[in-house]
Amino acid sequence: MSDLQKYVEYLIFINQKINNFFEKQKEYIKCQKGCAKCCQNAEFPYKKIEFDLLMEGFKTLSKDNQQLIRERVKNLKEEQKKREDKFEYTCPFLIDNICSVYDFRGIICRSFGLMFNRENNTPGIPFCIFDGLNYSALLNKETGKVITEKYKELGYKQPPIAFNVSHNFLTDEAMAKGFGFTFGETKPMIDWFEDDFYNI
Ligand code: SF4
Ligand code: SF4
Repeated sequence: MSDLQKYVEYLIFINQKINNFFEKQKEYIKCQKGCAKCCQNAEFPYKKIEFDLLMEGFKTLSKDNQQLIRERVKNLKEEQKKREDKFEYTCPFLIDNICSVYDFRGIICRSFGLMFNRENNTPGIPFCIFDGLNYSALLNKETGKVITEKYKELGYKQPPIAFNVSHNFLTDEAMAKGFGFTFGETKPMIDWFEDDFYNI
């Protein structure tokens, strides 16, 4: 079995867990097809093996969509060169507000939207809470934090829960070792593209 196949086995394993977490928190989740705020204005951390799978997805696309994505990547690379600060962008694989490589997307794309445990054990919240989306009913607008204890008063059955779904946690090499592959280096998605991707 190739490393990529072993990684896909791992994805099947964590997908079950992530889907279960979304199900547990469904009262707070507003994710739906066509909502793509989380595919915009971000860096999208990708490990080497995640990017390799993304490129397998790219190969399945129509020639027109491949060309569109090549052009977008080229433009983003040019834009990035002009910036000195952190470069946040719309993912080049987002077409008509839908992920064109859904089955091949990275781990951050699968877990985003849930509350997550940070490395210092404080809860992290998805930024779309500030757009009236996930967990927004529990947002304290002054502190920018979730008011957990308010959930019953507001009629929710489940409390909001932060899970171990940060990108760092889910791409720990110790997890990969159990499945027989390595994740490799992390870079923002755009940094994985080499010139020969769009100069063809
Ligand atoms: S995580 Fe937030 S922005 Fe992304 S699809 Fe769900 S509701 Fe929309
Ligand atoms: S790969 Fe798909 S899900 Fe991930 S950021 Fe890009 S368009 Fe969104």
